[in-house]
Amino acid sequence: MIPPDHPRYRSLVVRERMAACARQGIVSWEGLTAHGRGEAFDYLIGERTTDSARVAERTAAAMLLAARHPVISINGNTAALAAPEIAALQRACGAIVEVNLFHRTEERVRQIEALLRDAGVAVFSGEAEQLLPLSHDRAWCRREGMYAADLVLVPLEDGDRCEALVRMGKKVIAIDLNPLSRTARTATLTVVDELTRALPAIANACTALSVSERKHLIDSLDNHYLLQEAIVEMTTRLAHALD
Ligand code: ATP
Repeated sequence: MIPPDHPRYRSLVVRERMAACARQGIVSWEGLTAHGRGEAFDYLIGERTTDSARVAERTAAAMLLAARHPVISINGNTAALAAPEIAALQRACGAIVEVNLFHRTEERVRQIEALLRDAGVAVFSGEAEQLLPLSHDRAWCRREGMYAADLVLVPLEDGDRCEALVRMGKKVIAIDLNPLSRTARTATLTVVDELTRALPAIANACTALSVSERKHLIDSLDNHYLLQEAIVEMTTRLAHALD
C-alpha cells in the first residue's frame, strides 16, 4: 500500500501498475526499462508540460485533423499507462487505433486489445500481415490500418519502425520524453512530454483549434527547433538544480 502523502506517490502508483501489467503479460519486461528511461527524462523537464511541448501538442492535433487516414499505434506500455486517454483522443480526432508490438505474440495482442476495448477504444483488429520493411515483429500490421495510413501517431516508439514509416512516405508524430532518441530525431513531429499529459493535451487541442490556427501550426512546424527547445529546457534546469 503506497501512502498517498508520499512525495513520489503518483510515480510509485504508476510503477505498481506497470509491474502488475508486466506480470499479466501486457507490458513486456523490456518495457519496464523503457518506462524507467522515460521517468528519468521526465525528471529533467520537471515533470510538467513545457512551452515547446505545448506547441508540439497543438501541432499534433492539427496534423491528426488534417490527415486522410490517421492511425494511432499502441504498444504494451501505452495501453497500460493511458488506455482511457487513447479512447478520448480517438473520439476527438477520429483516428484508427491499432496494436503493433516489438515483443509480439497473438496472446499479447489479444490482451492489449481487450484492455483498450474495456477503456472505450474502438480497436482496429483483424488479420495482420508482415507489411512494414522491418526484420522484427513490428513489421506486422493491418493492410487497411497502419499500412494504408498517411499519418501515424507513435507513442513510446522504437527508432527502427519510426524510420521505416517515414521512409514509406508517412508523416509520423512521436511522443517521446527523450529528445535525443532516434525516434525523436526521425519523426516529422516529436512531442517531448509524458504520455499521460500529452494525450489529453492533444485531444483538447483537437476541439479547441480554429481552422486558421491549425493551418498556421502545420505551416510553421520545425521539429529540430522543438527538440532544441526541449534540450535547452533540460540543460537550464540542470544548470540551476542546486541553486
Ligand atoms: P530509439 O530507438 O528511438 O533511439 P529507445 O531505444 O530509447 O529509442 P525504447 O527503448 O523503445 O526506445 O524507449 C521508448 C522511449 O519512450 C524512450 O526514449 C523513453 O524516454 C520514452 N518513454 C518511456 N516512457 C514514457 C512516457 N510515459 N511518456 C513519454 N515517453 C516515454
